[in-house]
Amino acid sequence: MSQRRQELAASLREVQERIQRAVDSAGRDRAEITLIVVTKTFPASDAEILYELGARNFGENRDEEGREKSQILPNDSIWHFQGQIQSKKLRSITEWANVIHSLDELAHARKIATLSAGKAHSVFVQVSLDSPNTQTGRGGVGPALLMDFLRECSMISELDLLGLMAVAPLNVDPVIAFSRLAQLRKEVIAEFPQVTALSCGMSGDFEAAIAAGATHIRIGSSILGSR
Ligand SMILES: *Cc1c(COP(=O)(O)O)cnc(C)c1O
Repeated sequence: MSQRRQELAASLREVQERIQRAVDSAGRDRAEITLIVVTKTFPASDAEILYELGARNFGENRDEEGREKSQILPNDSIWHFQGQIQSKKLRSITEWANVIHSLDELAHARKIATLSAGKAHSVFVQVSLDSPNTQTGRGGVGPALLMDFLRECSMISELDLLGLMAVAPLNVDPVIAFSRLAQLRKEVIAEFPQVTALSCGMSGDFEAAIAAGATHIRIGSSILGSR
C-alpha cells in the first residue's frame, strides 16, 4: 500500500469513527448522513484512492477542477458543487455536478432551469448565518429573505429543492450558528414538507452539525490534510 493510501485510509477511518460517535450521542441513525469528501485543491489521484476506500460523494468548489476529477473517477461517483456560483460557469457545472449546494441567486436558479434539459437538477439553497453587519462574502441568502427565495425557487419545476446549506461563520460558536440553522429548517419544512435536507458541518464543526440535524456533511482537511 502506498504511503498516501495508508494516510487517507487512517484519516477516513478516524473521521468515520467521529461521525459514528456524534451520531450515537445525538441518538440518530448513521444512514441519515451523507459524508461528502471535499477533494478541492487535492489531485484526482487522492479522490481515486478515496473511491477505492469506499467514498462515493465528492465535493468541489471550482468548475474546472470538479469537471476534471469527475471525468477520471468511476461513473457511480456523486459530485457536489459547493463553491460560489459564477453565472458563466453554470452550464459546465450543471453538466458534471449531480448536486449544487450553493444556490443563492434567483438568476442562477432560472439559468439552471434553462440548462436542465427536462431533467430536474438537485439543489440546496445556501443561507447566510453571518450577522448582517459582517460582510464575509461567503455567500448565502439572508435569513429574512429565505422564505421568499424558496417560494420563487419552488415554482421552477426544473429544480429539485433538497434543503438548506450553510457554512458556520468564523468567530461564532458553531452550536449557536447551527441551532439558528435548525430553526430555519423547521420553518422551511412547515411550508415545504419535501425540503428536508441540511448540508452543514466541515472539519472543524461537523459534530455540532450532526447534533443539529445535518444530513450532508462536507469534510476536507480532516481527511485529506491541510490545503
Ligand atoms: C472547503 C469547504 C469545505 C471543507 O472544509 P474543511 O474545513 O477542509 O473540512 C466544506 N464546505 C465548503 C463550502 C467549503 O468551501
